[in-house]
Amino acid sequence: MKRGCALWIFLVLTVSCVLAASLKPLRIYFIDVEGGQSTLLVSPSGQSMLVDTGWPDHNNRDAQRIQAAARDAGIKQIDDLIITHFHEDHVGGAPQLAALIPIRNFVDHGSTVETDPHGEALYNAYLKVRSKGHHILARPGMEIPIAGMKVEILSAAGNVIGQPVLGGGEHNPYCPTESQLRPGVDTSENAQSVGLLITLGKFRMIDLGDLTWRKEYALVCPINRVGRVELYLTTHHGLNISGESYIVDALHPIVAIGNNGANKGGTPEAFTVIHNSPGLEGFWELHDSLAAGKLNAPAAYIANLNTQEDRGHWIKVTAYPNGNFTVTNSRNGKSETYHPRP
Ligand SMILES: [Zn+2]
Ligand SMILES: [Zn+2]
Repeated sequence: MKRGCALWIFLVLTVSCVLAASLKPLRIYFIDVEGGQSTLLVSPSGQSMLVDTGWPDHNNRDAQRIQAAARDAGIKQIDDLIITHFHEDHVGGAPQLAALIPIRNFVDHGSTVETDPHGEALYNAYLKVRSKGHHILARPGMEIPIAGMKVEILSAAGNVIGQPVLGGGEHNPYCPTESQLRPGVDTSENAQSVGLLITLGKFRMIDLGDLTWRKEYALVCPINRVGRVELYLTTHHGLNISGESYIVDALHPIVAIGNNGANKGGTPEAFTVIHNSPGLEGFWELHDSLAAGKLNAPAAYIANLNTQEDRGHWIKVTAYPNGNFTVTNSRNGKSETYHPRP
């Protein structure tokens, strides 16, 4: 073969590889852990990140559901495990999961603030697992290094970012005054939640764990430090002390996904906020909520129905850098594609 010809073939192959890589999607599995949280993200680079591990016990139920999603995604290890906070429905499944799949890095907000015997036992069981990997302490403003996508920490250990991220920084017209805020403070682990913004080109997704109302207020009032997102995972499973209208409306999501269980979260208050959110085009749920009644999404958009055997179906999102993303219900194959705003 002539040298010029070989060079051309090399160049064509290189350009093809670069184009193929840029067309690879971010894949997100919203795993049904019965009102807890577990979300698996696989970057276009193939690196994996798991946010929370669901509940302990139940004959390894949640760990096995996560393993099934990992198999579907074709990954053999969790590169980064983010523990949003040390409540049982988020960190409880970590020991069981670690027995099934290797975990490299552990990202969390530090130590539990709940030092009762149950809280201590959960935290200590997690520490045993964490000690076998690399620990990263989450701080607001930090980025988690994952090739192919951007993961920014918005909140951790009761603090929120001091400066807006790229795309944020506008006045938030939906903010109440401080005196109009729901009274009280939240001294529980929820307020310590590690909150994440995940960006792939024009696609942005927010996951704030169980962050509660005062921290939400600090994050988006009076300046919306986050900006708008394409995808909103219900904060705190749609419980009515999170997911206030001043944050959901300001985030302006195209799609919301409810990580409520049948009897956990999915409150009428939080779901009303979602339905009234300006610009919302799609609402999907991991479960129909018994409390929400008619405020639930139509059955086709719910992964696990209370009238059927619960097999732990997931909701999968495939997102591209141009902002297009497809949501699929693994129970029935129902699928919809959404486009970024002009
Ligand atoms: Zn929770
Ligand atoms: Zn919690």
